Amino acid sequence: MGQGYSEPVERLLAELGKLPGVGQRTAERLAYHLLRQPAEEAMKLAIAIRDLKKLVRPCSVCGNPDETDPCAVCADPRRDRGAILVVETPKDLAAIERCGAWHGVYHILGGRLAPLDGLGPEDLRVRELVARLTPEVREVVLGTNPDLEGDGTALYLREALAGRPVRISRLARGLPAGSTIEYSSGAVLAEAVSARVAMPE
Ligand code: ZN
Repeated sequence: MGQGYSEPVERLLAELGKLPGVGQRTAERLAYHLLRQPAEEAMKLAIAIRDLKKLVRPCSVCGNPDETDPCAVCADPRRDRGAILVVETPKDLAAIERCGAWHGVYHILGGRLAPLDGLGPEDLRVRELVARLTPEVREVVLGTNPDLEGDGTALYLREALAGRPVRISRLARGLPAGSTIEYSSGAVLAEAVSARVAMPE
C-alpha cells in the first residue's frame, strides 16, 4: 500500500483496503480521519465491529444475522411459516421488512449464482432451503434480484424444487428489470410482493 507510513497505519490501510468499494485513496482518507479523532471516538468503531462479530450470528433456520437464534422473524409467532421468501442477502430481507408487505418467513441464500465469479449452487444455502420444505410449507417465493444472475438463480431454484408439493412464485415484475431489491422503494417492493406470480413448471 502507501509508502512512508508507520507499521500500525500500514496495517489499518491494509484492513480498510479489504472493504468493498474502498480503494487506497479512500483508505488513506479514513485512516487520517481516525488518526485525528479522539481515542474514545475511534474506539467506538472498533467496539462496534467486535460486538458485531461477538453478538450477531446467522439464524440456524433462515440464515438472517441476529442477536438471537432463531432470529426475531423466525421466532415471531405471528409470522406465517407456510410461506418462505427466498432472498439473496440480509440487506434484501431488511428492505422487504421495511415495506411491511410480507408476513411469511425468509430464507437467506447468501448470494446468487454467478458462474463468472465462480459462485455455484454449493456456495448458496440451497440444501438448507430444501430441508425446510416440511408439509407445513405451502409456498416458496423466489425473491432474487430482477437481473441476469438473479433470474438465473431463480430458474435454478425452481428446478431444484421441482416436484415438491409447494407453490413456487417469483416477485412480480413491478420491480423494473435490472433494478435491485435493496434500492427499490417500499411501495414498489410491497407491490412486487403482493402481485407475485407463480413460476411455470
Ligand atoms: Zn431466522
